[in-house]
Amino acid sequence: MNNRIDKLAYLFESFPGIGKRQARRFVYFLLHKDPGYIHELTSSIQNVKAEIDQCHECYRFFPKTGMNICPICIEAKDSKQLMIVEKDADFENLHKTKIYEGKYFILGGHINANEKKRSFARVDQLINRIKRDTDNGVIEELIFALSISPEAEHTRIRLYTMLKDTFPNLTFSTLGRGLSTGTELEYSDTETLKHAFNSRITQ
Ligand SMILES: [Zn+2]
Repeated sequence: MNNRIDKLAYLFESFPGIGKRQARRFVYFLLHKDPGYIHELTSSIQNVKAEIDQCHECYRFFPKTGMNICPICIEAKDSKQLMIVEKDADFENLHKTKIYEGKYFILGGHINANEKKRSFARVDQLINRIKRDTDNGVIEELIFALSISPEAEHTRIRLYTMLKDTFPNLTFSTLGRGLSTGTELEYSDTETLKHAFNSRITQ
């Protein structure tokens, strides 16, 4: 590592979607900021790590409660539905509409069509969760609530193909196509999500 600037730029490069040039722009942006801003930024990073936990059931991030399962998973413990969403922001948007009050699983990414590329999707964790819950007779329906994009569609089909033979008693459904191509669940309004949920397609 040549110097401090390179070192910090290198750290920013590991952020999702950030390339070398943007990483260096971030460093120069910070160099222009006053010490108060830098202090707030660094302490916010430390606080978020210290005060936020990841739920052992749904994998979403939530403010620490002393339990390793989040309040929403605790509330939904009697539900027989499990909804798969891609990321925390999608979960937040869906959950606030109150159209669905069952269980959730945050996949954390897509399954890459290119097998050589690293996938961040928590496929093994999902299979273990479904196995445990179906063995206990807890879940009966698995709802795919992924955004509408080629990557999301590839992920849904791969998961469905993987799961349908292993869990023959499970009903699989997908949010209805009231959602158009390019739709990000994160930005969809309540009415659209409600329609998509109520018109979900069973496979
Ligand atoms: Zn949870």
